[in-house]
Amino acid sequence: MEKILDAIQSGASGDDIAALAIPESYRAAFVRRDETEMFEGVESWDKDPRQSLHVEEVPTPALAPDEVYLAVMASSINFNTVWTSIFEPLPTFGFLDRLARESEWAARHALPYHIVGSDASGVVLQVGSEVRNWRPGDRVTVHCNYVDDQDPSAHDDSMLAANQRIWGFESNFGGLADLSVVKANQLMPKPAHLTWEEAAVNALCNSTSYRMLVGHNGARMKQGDSVLIWGATGGIGGYAVQYVLNGGGTPIGVVSSPERAALLHKIGCEAVIDRRAEAYEFWSDPYTQDESEWRRFGKKVRELNDGEDVDIVFEHPGRSTMGASVFAVKRGGTVVTCAATSGYMVEFDNRHFWMKLKKLLASHFANYAEAWAANRLIDQGRIQPLLTATYPLEQVGAAALAVHHNEAEGKLGVLCLAPEEGLGIDDPAKRERIGEDRVTMFRSSAFPGHAGRG
Ligand code: NDP
Repeated sequence: MEKILDAIQSGASGDDIAALAIPESYRAAFVRRDETEMFEGVESWDKDPRQSLHVEEVPTPALAPDEVYLAVMASSINFNTVWTSIFEPLPTFGFLDRLARESEWAARHALPYHIVGSDASGVVLQVGSEVRNWRPGDRVTVHCNYVDDQDPSAHDDSMLAANQRIWGFESNFGGLADLSVVKANQLMPKPAHLTWEEAAVNALCNSTSYRMLVGHNGARMKQGDSVLIWGATGGIGGYAVQYVLNGGGTPIGVVSSPERAALLHKIGCEAVIDRRAEAYEFWSDPYTQDESEWRRFGKKVRELNDGEDVDIVFEHPGRSTMGASVFAVKRGGTVVTCAATSGYMVEFDNRHFWMKLKKLLASHFANYAEAWAANRLIDQGRIQPLLTATYPLEQVGAAALAVHHNEAEGKLGVLCLAPEEGLGIDDPAKRERIGEDRVTMFRSSAFPGHAGRG
């Protein structure tokens, strides 16, 4: 790996990089198949990813014809790494076993360990025999939509493909490692003005928010629309706020601390609700929702939105908020959801839903075209990376714990091969044009207040 890093750092040519030997093993973060029951009887909150995520050498897999070997410079923590590391809602080895049944190449994925991570920035080292558009030496970011392009169901919207998967969650050999095998159709050009860690944190969350709000498969936000955004300084929420501001809409951001509210104000989101300060209790007990709390919340939203209900709700907490989200969206408006952090058995009052002709729209990651469009907006400097802190790969468990416990704002980057932060900027003039303060606007507002549980 040292030679690979030296070559990358010294700006070696594509031919020189192609000539480098691929190491027989590499450092990777993984969970173990024989430990999937280690947290049995432990409450979800107390399951600690530092116990389940291991960072050790693993053998390098063979390269399939449609894949590239990628030197991973940096990666990021996504909530799916939290799910994998606490084995909820179920261990991810079942996904790997199912994938392994599909083909000879897919069989590589069923292993006693699952290498996690669904984001990466890095350098292409070698390409498989069927790879046309990428060459050794290319500097790339990786999106996580893992599809079989020989399947006809993958050719309208690949998120509707019968065997669509999320790389590093439903497949092995993820990005939290020094090396990865990645399908060629997951690659996108690395924005040249960003560091490795800034480039690594965007693809999963940025593309998800793009599809939910901007792309034609999502809520199709229009200029002037008001959008209520839960977790507005979180991974997907922070990109959502930027899309609404860019698209001529009004974001109403919900967060859970004064520091997070201050960050939203700083980035131009004027309407903010601190849900903890307002002490909303949408559930009066684990089985009963309190409509009066939905009404109190709806009133607050209207106060912040010129007396109107919102056009769109950007929903992901799930069970704790879905009733309020469906209530608060306007007549004919859309609740778009991609997740259920607080519980997936959601409940809302169908009378408010059908009588007011509201819409509920499911969304999941993004197809290649959507991920490409979202990456282009980062490249143009119109959307900024949400990076707020960076961890070394050895501390991946601590980083995952911070996300699990809602102690992190924005995105946490993870340095893999990159020996330190701040490396990888290929076009400093472009960075200057876009503005250092804009590129680092989430980072530079380091704020101590951690929100925590609930
Ligand atoms: P983060 O942890 O970065 O942010 C989530 C935010 O949601 C938190 O900052 C918190 O903000 C808020 N939140 C958490 N719990 C609650 C609650 N009970 N009620 C209200 N707000 C809550 O996570 P991400 O943004 O990266 O991901 C959010 C969810 O979306 C996860 O479940 C993830 O798995 C999923 N996801 C799904 C994708 C898909 O393709 N389907 C893609 C990406 C993510 P605060 O406390 O400040 O209010």
